[in-house]
Amino acid sequence: MASTTCGWCGRLTHMTLVGEVFEIPESYQLGPERGDLYAAAFRCDSETCARLSIGQARLHFAGYPGMQELKTRMQQVHLTWTPQSVSRPAFPDVPDQIASAASEAHACLSIQAYRGAVALARAVVEATAKDHGIVRGSLASKINELGERNLIREFTRQLAHEIREGGNEIAHGDLADEPMPPEDAEAIIGLMDEILQEVYQAPAKMLRLKKSREEREQRNAAQAAEA
Ligand SMILES: [Zn+2]
Repeated sequence: MASTTCGWCGRLTHMTLVGEVFEIPESYQLGPERGDLYAAAFRCDSETCARLSIGQARLHFAGYPGMQELKTRMQQVHLTWTPQSVSRPAFPDVPDQIASAASEAHACLSIQAYRGAVALARAVVEATAKDHGIVRGSLASKINELGERNLIREFTRQLAHEIREGGNEIAHGDLADEPMPPEDAEAIIGLMDEILQEVYQAPAKMLRLKKSREEREQRNAAQAAEA
């Protein structure tokens, strides 16, 4: 289906095929897979965007396909898109340096740069521990200490341990030597998100609610005194 998150406007939208489908000459193709690579221009259906992206797919035909058949198939199959949509979530209650590294970890994950994502997630958790005066020991022991000081839930501390038991740990030293399957990188980024949520975002939300309750009580008390 020619629907995707548009790499220009960031909306999940339908993409309309414009013009012809081109076969990419084999000699120009990058990577180990060869042959039967097709590309076409698509326009974003969002009226405020309407910019062009390139969709690519490997298609296999019994005989030599006509243009109409190529166009039909290009609108049915899963395409890879250029530009790609890059996710850069904001972490508003997290200190700026840590928040921007966490946002970059998500950007890496969204373009399948899994080692980069995990390296940044590790730096984010290290910086979070350091921000709370925890500077000694391995990253695993720092996560334990975050748990002991009730900055993260016991469940989250165990989750970090579980990811480590699974073979790919957030605290591993030899990223370049390790394979990094997408699901492991996603689990580690999820753990980073959970740690930021518990250490910064949830307490900040609670303080905002407390502040607005106290302000409301003060207003009510002032009105009662006037009456
Ligand atoms: Zn768009």
